[in-house]
Amino acid sequence: MKYLDEYRDAKIARALAAEVRRRSSRAWVLMEICGGQTHTLMRYGIDELLGDSVQIVHGPGCQVCVTSLETIDRAIALARRPDVTLVSYGDMLRVPGSETDLFHVKAEGGDVRVVYSPTDAVQLARSQPDRKVVFFAIGFETTAPAHAMAVLQAHRLGLRNFSLLVSHVLVPPAIRTLLSSPKNRVQGFIAPGHVCTVVGVSEYEELVREFRAPIVVGGFEPLDLLEAIRMLVMQLEEGRAELENQYTRSVQRGGNRPAQEAVARAFEVSDRKWRGIGPIPASGLRLREEFAAFDAERVFELQDVCAEEPKECISAEVLLGHKKPTDCTAFGTRCTPEKPLGAPMVSTEGACAAYYQYRRHLVTL
Ligand code: SF4
Repeated sequence: MKYLDEYRDAKIARALAAEVRRRSSRAWVLMEICGGQTHTLMRYGIDELLGDSVQIVHGPGCQVCVTSLETIDRAIALARRPDVTLVSYGDMLRVPGSETDLFHVKAEGGDVRVVYSPTDAVQLARSQPDRKVVFFAIGFETTAPAHAMAVLQAHRLGLRNFSLLVSHVLVPPAIRTLLSSPKNRVQGFIAPGHVCTVVGVSEYEELVREFRAPIVVGGFEPLDLLEAIRMLVMQLEEGRAELENQYTRSVQRGGNRPAQEAVARAFEVSDRKWRGIGPIPASGLRLREEFAAFDAERVFELQDVCAEEPKECISAEVLLGHKKPTDCTAFGTRCTPEKPLGAPMVSTEGACAAYYQYRRHLVTL
């Protein structure tokens, strides 16, 4: 299949891995940011193909994993209201809140619906004027344009029964937090290609200049990732720290301007709490004051919901690359995809779920 098979060629993959092994003088510690990239690495056994030449750790780029517990609890509180229809992406339904999840609230009679696009939620609000429709708007820079478009559309239509529960996070502030930590051991990063497709690469160039850590914008297929790893290892071996773009078939230097303009029109940068990690300054988006009537937190006065993370879950250490999922004492025993303790085991992009799913059914190239 065009754009898939050509990036999954086993012969080229083995040659790239051999080159990485040959060029590495030590086990460089590299981090892929995005959970989609984590799953590709695990699914195709790329980390094992590379042997001891690099150590891959996994970053905080899973939108479900980093949505704060308080936000999940707020969504649950909304879904329990008899006047509210809560609309969400499907993988949020099983993410555990403090006491339950949206799936159970739905089973108990809560009006929880799954959609693939936020504009479907706008249509739902139009077709059900007697219901208050709240869309659970989570994600990184990738989902923000569609959420912005939904609000702008609802505003244009004059809808009074539509709002967003916003939990948007931004990747560069998280990388900055990680690189500023005294515990950091990551020496090079694979930046998420889809995020850079939207926002461009300038913020990543600033990070490279500030921390002298190489960053390669990478795609999501096995050869994309092996090529990005090869580029990082070459930089590290040659003592270079540069921003390079492996994902040239999608990422333009300036990103997608119309998408950026839609986001800037609807949202402004704000502080944001990340699940497991805690608050990171200027790491999120919130609706602008002009769109306050579409902000579910203000409409339903949800600000004072607070929650504690389960003590046993070390997702913060996993999401910051300090530990691997298998270092968690609950991994595969008290925490499984069927009975998750933390979000990284629930999400289709979570690092813990990737380890659980693919370590037992390893597909080698
Ligand atoms: S295995 Fe489960 S409990 Fe452990 S870090 Fe991952 S999600 Fe948390």
